[in-house]
Formats: sequence, structure tokens, C-alpha cells
Amino acid sequence: MDRVKALARIDTYFQTGKFESDLNRRIAFKTESNLPNSVNALQSYLDKEIAPYLSAMGFSCTIYPNPITDAGPFLLAHRIEGADLPTVMTYGHGDVVAGYDDQWKNKMSPWNITKNDNRWYGRGTADNKGQHTINLAALKTVLETRGHLGFNITVLIEMGEERGSPGLKEFCTLHKELMKADVFIASDGPRIQAEKPTIFMGSRGVFNFTLRLDVHSGGHHSGNWGGLLTNPGIVMAHALASMVDRNGKILVEGWRNNEMPNSVREAISKLKVGGNEDDPKINSNWGEPKMTPEERVFASNTFEIRAFETGNPKSPANAIPPNAVAFGHLRYVVGTDVEKLMPLLRAHLDKNNFNDISITKERDPMLATRLNPDHPWAVWIVKSLSKTTGKNIAVMPNLGGSLPNDVFASTLSLPTIWIPHSYAGCSQHAPNEHILETVSRSALRMMTGLWWDLGAEDTPYRRR
Ligand SMILES: [Zn+2]
Repeated sequence: MDRVKALARIDTYFQTGKFESDLNRRIAFKTESNLPNSVNALQSYLDKEIAPYLSAMGFSCTIYPNPITDAGPFLLAHRIEGADLPTVMTYGHGDVVAGYDDQWKNKMSPWNITKNDNRWYGRGTADNKGQHTINLAALKTVLETRGHLGFNITVLIEMGEERGSPGLKEFCTLHKELMKADVFIASDGPRIQAEKPTIFMGSRGVFNFTLRLDVHSGGHHSGNWGGLLTNPGIVMAHALASMVDRNGKILVEGWRNNEMPNSVREAISKLKVGGNEDDPKINSNWGEPKMTPEERVFASNTFEIRAFETGNPKSPANAIPPNAVAFGHLRYVVGTDVEKLMPLLRAHLDKNNFNDISITKERDPMLATRLNPDHPWAVWIVKSLSKTTGKNIAVMPNLGGSLPNDVFASTLSLPTIWIPHSYAGCSQHAPNEHILETVSRSALRMMTGLWWDLGAEDTPYRRR
């Protein structure tokens, strides 16, 4: 009965516009962590918004500077109800990518919510302010309904995820004792289909690198020098062609990985990617051969060229360009040795006579993680989410994208379960980022039900 009351209360929270006003207030903080002038906004988001919100819920909050000097702060908040109760750790990131303010359609501002039918536009609506706003509001609702939570909880909010989470690993290593928990439950990223409740339990890793070929100190007229000088753009194109075939199959020795345990194969066989409104059309012949599209994106390594430049594409000259640069990355699954990726690429380029092309690692790679789909916490969470929604839950062993999940899975040794509240077409990281109203409403209910069940007397995880 009380579970029903809690769900009714969260419905009211949405219907009375409180979810919108909470989120709108948070969207207004220009927490663009990749821009140098964002420091004050990053600090204010925690000082003025999240800490007061959690303090009012009886959390003890501490805001820590980042161990890396120019990176955003961390908020660590605890609400302890009893040593015999289970402890959950949750996480969100309050930073966003750049607003690209003048690129949004209909002159929308990224810094407040604009509603259009089912879509709520604004920078951070999907990634990640909307998602942690849902989870914290659900938590507050359970607290207000029950008077207590019935479990202990640690909240970590970081302000540098969009920069690759600088200092997160150091911070978690330093304060490991403060982040002991039985399970990690958080929300980021997309559902497999917009209306399909989803959990994922890890993510592919990502290794970002730059290839560079500098040949001449400046451009040289092609009439005077063509046929005499090396063209770096042509050489770079051949180097890239040696790394991947025209159908996206990786050719660098040691870079492919298509191994997966049966439980993972079985879980993936129940998933279906694409088919949402606005989803691009899938090329079923692209990438790793002999795999399904779902196996490719969740259980194989995939290589992309993210950008490629030679000369000046905005004003092409009749000249041999001085250099060429290509930005690439490899998304990779558990079982790939990330330390070997760069040496393997070096060996490949050398073997193919591209010794002059330099490789630079752009930042520390995010590591790949995965939890077995039949882990007891995964099974328990699926049960709670099904109870609230009456739907089957999609269970993804890992996300195709990348999250700083290795910090939680490895550094903190927690079973990690993510419950995403967005969808693949949400334009995160681009202009017109949005969250769906229908998904938000169902997510508010799912999370309220989940926090409720976690504190119920009959929870099987009552004691560690
Ligand atoms: Zn993001």
C-alpha cells in the first residue's frame, strides 16, 4: 500500500511541475567542463544546488577540490540509517559538454528547458542533470513517504565527466573507505529503445588517439612541385585504409576482439538496436564479420575515424599540404589489453612503411567493464523495475558507449548497475539535446519503486 503511495507522490511531483522546475534550475548552471571559464559554474552547481538539496534530506555533504588542480570538484554525501542496513552508492555528473549556444534549432537556448511535445530540450537534460535529478527526486519521495529510507546511501557527484573524469580515480582511491557499499546504482546513457526500461552493467572502453604526419614546413604550389614532393594527405589516407577495410572491419593485428561468454551472448540475443524515430539506418554489413549488429556494438571492438584533415578544407589551395592529421578511436570490450593497443598500432604502421606517422594518446583511456547478467543484484533490480513498470527489462551486459565505470567496478570493487533514463536519439553532446517526457515520468516511478524496495523489510539484501 505504501509503495503505491510513494508512486502516487512521485506522479504528483511530476504533474505539479516540480520536476520541471528542479531540472530547469540545474540546466541554468553553465557547467561546461571543457571550457576554461567554467570553474565558478562547476563549483556553484554543488555549493548552491546539490548540497542544499541533499542537506535538506538529512545528508552530510562535503565538497572536495579535485586532486588534479584545474579540474572540477567532487561532492560526497552520506545518509546513514544503521550499520545493519544495506548501503547503496549512487553517482551523477553535474558537468556538461559545451552549449554550442547558436546552433540550436528555433533559436532555443541550451540553458533552460524548452518543451516541444514529448521532448524537453536543454543542455544536460539527458546527460546527466535530468538523470540524477530523477534519481534524487525519487529518493526524496521515498524519504517523505516512509519517513526514513531503510538503507544507507552515499552520493557522489563529479564535475568533470565530459573531460574524461580527471581525478576521479585518484579521489576514489583516496577516499575508498568513505565509499564502501553493497551495490552501485546510477543512471547515465541511453536505454536500448526509448520506451524499453533497460539496465546495463558496464561499458566498452575507449582509446582516443591522434595520427599525425608532418612532411613540409609549409604548402608548396602543386604546379611547381607536384610529382616531386610527398603528399601527406595521400599517405595518411593509405595508412587509414591499412587499418580498417571499406566495410569497417579492423585490420590492425591484435585490435579485434569478438570473444564473449555464453551468458553475455544470450543476454545480447534478446536485445535489438535501432528502430527508434530519428535513428540512423543500420548497415548490417559494417564492422566485425559474422556477428549480429547487437553483438558488434556490445561485444566487439570498433574503430572510428573521428576527424581527418589535410590542407585547408574551408579554402582549398592548389598546393601540396604540409601535413595531415587524423583523429581516431577504438571502442573496446572486456578482454582487450588496453596497454597493448598503442604498441600494436605502432607495429602495424611500421610494418606497412608508415614509420613517419606519429601516434599520440589523447587522454587516459576509459577502461572496459562488464557484470554477469545473472549477478544477484542484477536479478533483484530487474524484478523491482518489472514490478513498477509491468514490462520486461532489457539487460545489457555492457553499454556500447563508455563511462568511468572501471573506477566503481575495479577501484571501489562494487557490483555496478546502471539504469539509463535517456535514449540514443537524445542528441547528447550535440545541439538540441533533450530528454523524453514519457521516459522521465516512467523513470521517476521506476526509481521510486526501486528505492522503496531497497528499504523494505523483505529485501533479501538486508545484511551484508
Ligand atoms: Zn556525456
